[in-house]
This record gives sequence, structure tokens and C-alpha cells, in this order.
Amino acid sequence: MSNKKRIVILGAGESGIGTALLAKQQGYNVFVSDGGCIKENYKNDLLQNEIEFEEGAHTEAKILNADVVMKSPGIPEKNELVKKIREKKIEIISEIEFAYRYKGNSKIIAITGSNGKTTTTALTYNICKLVSNDCAMVGNIGFSFARQVAENPKKMYVVEVSSFQLDDIVSFRPDVAIITNITEDHLDRYNYDVNNYIKSKFRIIENQIETDVFIYNIDDETTKNNIDKLNIRSKKAPITMNKELPEGAYLTTAQMHVKWKGEEMQMSIDDFALKGKHNQYNSMAASMAGTAVGIRKEKIREALQTFESLEHRMEPVVTIRGVEFINDSKATNINSTWYALESMQKPVVLILGGVDKGNDYNILKDLVVEKVKAIVCLGLDNVKIEEAFGTIVSNMVQVNNATDAVQAAFSFAEKGDVVLLSPACASFDLYKNYEDRGNQFKAAVKDL
Ligand code: ADP
Repeated sequence: MSNKKRIVILGAGESGIGTALLAKQQGYNVFVSDGGCIKENYKNDLLQNEIEFEEGAHTEAKILNADVVMKSPGIPEKNELVKKIREKKIEIISEIEFAYRYKGNSKIIAITGSNGKTTTTALTYNICKLVSNDCAMVGNIGFSFARQVAENPKKMYVVEVSSFQLDDIVSFRPDVAIITNITEDHLDRYNYDVNNYIKSKFRIIENQIETDVFIYNIDDETTKNNIDKLNIRSKKAPITMNKELPEGAYLTTAQMHVKWKGEEMQMSIDDFALKGKHNQYNSMAASMAGTAVGIRKEKIREALQTFESLEHRMEPVVTIRGVEFINDSKATNINSTWYALESMQKPVVLILGGVDKGNDYNILKDLVVEKVKAIVCLGLDNVKIEEAFGTIVSNMVQVNNATDAVQAAFSFAEKGDVVLLSPACASFDLYKNYEDRGNQFKAAVKDL
């Protein structure tokens, strides 16, 4: 019997493999168990590092003898095996918790929220890396936090964090935490109780101390209502578009102000590389984070000005005969599509649909009336979309592949219009994931 601590890792995706590599390096006895197939590149990581693993099954005898279990974010709490692990009182942690324990005295800026996480993470990273290369962007984009700590540790980590990752933290404490906004999402994982989801998001600040900073959007009702109820230790840095603040980030006419510790930075929002109201919030949050970690005003301005748009997020594809095509396939909920439409300044042909996660399309009605001339439903079941918009949009058609969607949209569009793929739904009815949907859309546009 070895006296090494035994860690069992459930799920061999990027966070599972990252944890396995870091745990191995830290001298754990590591076992990785995946109920499905492990991707070839990940299997190579395991083989090269002589890490024991299984796939296609979970052998309980090899799992229930763990000292600690890392549960991948995709595995729900109601999973039978997870219940058994809980019954045996074995500690269950997430990958960010594990990575946190070995990050040394490096700093962390952590970003969570329902929408805008990746964009805000990328913007913040863009700001940090203009000053020093000794930083990494981890989480959903790029490597897992744990892999980065194992393979290429840095002085600063900009971490995109999902609520599933936050569900299993213990001591994770970011120096700067951002909650972009909170709207209902993933309720299936939270017993259909939005309060559980909200609590999970706020766990990002539960270990923060007085010298840490918490950035949040007070224009977001849910966030604002909960801020007042919580006993927050960290230094608060709100952001808003609606009023001036003594400390925090806000907009006055077309000008962003970031006030912090008696200093003020200003920048015209026309200089933001990323357009649209939602990106103004993301840019404010990122600027606030940069300021909180002491980055100079000029660097922040430069980073926001030079940022290049992210794939599948309001990504300009091409303009054909005066019709602009935009790929916002990442918009998998109503709120995202709302912001996408809100930012449109030309008549829109909207491609909408997919797997509905309990959408209330009424939220889009005003914007649809104002801006949308035609809707192309791209999904297997479009009944709710038809019910919501059938009487207010005269041009509506149903399709079930990207080529037909693009051709239909192009036939409705005239010079000066935009064709916007911003589906407000998940993609699993017709596609592998939102990237696949976005890529097929772009390919179909290029074939036109
Ligand atoms: P996440 O990583 O949280 O899923 P992304 O940054 O990838 O968010 O953006 C996903 C989509 O959400 C974008 O395509 C855009 O339509 C929308 N979005 C981005 N930022 C915001 C925001 N601050 N508020 C609301 N919607 C947003």
C-alpha cells in the first residue's frame, strides 16, 4: 500500500486531464475514470504520464477508495456514483479548486456570469498581456486552469469559471472576481430553482477578503437584488450605464469612466473594438479588473481598442451584395439574442431556433417588431417561435440545415440588411455544438 494521497478524477475532458497532470506532478496516486470514450489526445496525455485510467465504465471499487474526488463540471450532482461518493463522505472538489491549491502566490482574476464570460475573460487577458507575458487565460478558452499550473505556471491567471465549477470549490479565492450578469440558465442542474443557480454564482466571492475586489453589474436586477442581501467582505467595484459612481466603472454620454482609489480613467466607447451594448458592459468590467490589478490607463485603452472579435460571438463573416452576415452562434439563450438584436443598426433577417431551454420569447418581441424583417427558423421544433412571432413577422420560414437557412435568409435580405445567426437556443438537435453550427453557417455563407 502506498501512502500517497489518492485522487480519483471523474470525467476525462480538459479539466479532468488538467487535474490528472497536476495531481501526478504533485505526487498523488491518480486514477481517471470516464463513463464514455476518452479523446485520443487526452488519452495520449494519460499514457505519456503513466496515469492509470478507465473508459466506458466507472469501477466503483477503484473510485470509492479515493481520498479526494475531482468531479468534472459536466457530471451532475444527481449522478448515482456521485451520491455514493457523498455517502462515503469523500471530499469532492472541482478542477479550479484543485488548481487553486497549487497556484502558489500568483494572482487570479476570475470571471463568471450567465453571459459574456468568455468575452470579458478574453478582454481582461488582452489587457493583462499587454503589460506582461507572465499571464495566462484559462478555463473555457484555452487550457484548463490545472493544466496551465502544471505545465506552464504564470504570475497571473485570468480564469473563466462556470457555475458548475463553483459548485465544488472549498478555498478558491480570486484576487479579483467578476460576475457579468445573472439570468436563468442551466436550471435543470439546480433543481429548477433559480436561487440555487444564483447562490452558485455568488460563491465566486465567498472566500474573498478585504483586499480582494468584486466587480458586478448593478444594472442587472438579479445581481443588484442579491448584493444587498449578502455580507460582502471584498472591496466592491460596481459597473453601470445609468449613473455616476464614486468608485467603479460607469458610462456618461459615450464616455466610459473608471474610478478607483482616487484616480480616474476615461475612454470614448466609440473606441471600443467590440461593438454593442453588451460589449460595453464587458469592456467596462475588463477595464475595472485591469485597473484593480494596477494596470495603467494607456494600456487598458490600447487593449480595448485593438481587441479582435471572438469566433461565433457577433463575428462578422462577410458582406455579399451589400448584405452583411454575422455569426452569433454562441447566443444559446434569449438574453444573448436580446443583446445581439439590440446592437443591430440595420434591418435584420434573423436565424433563430434549436433546442429551447425554456425560452420566453416575449422578451424579444419589442426588438423583433422594431428591427426584424424576416425570421428563418433553424431547428427541428419551431412551434414556440412561430407562436411568438408568427403574427408580427410576415416573412417566416422553417429549415433544418445551414445551407437552406443561409439561402432563405439571403432571399429575404436587401442591400443594407444584416443576416444574423443568433439562435437563442442550444444546437444539439442538428449540430454537435455551437461551434459546429457557427462553422456550418460560415461555410454556407461562403458558398453563396
Ligand atoms: P459566455 O462565455 O458567458 O457564454 P460569451 O462571451 O461567449 O459568453 O458570449 C456569448 C453570447 O452572449 C454572445 O454571442 C453575445 O450574444 C452575448 N453576450 C456577450 N456578452 C454579454 C453580456 N454582457 N450580456 C448579455 N449578453 C452577452
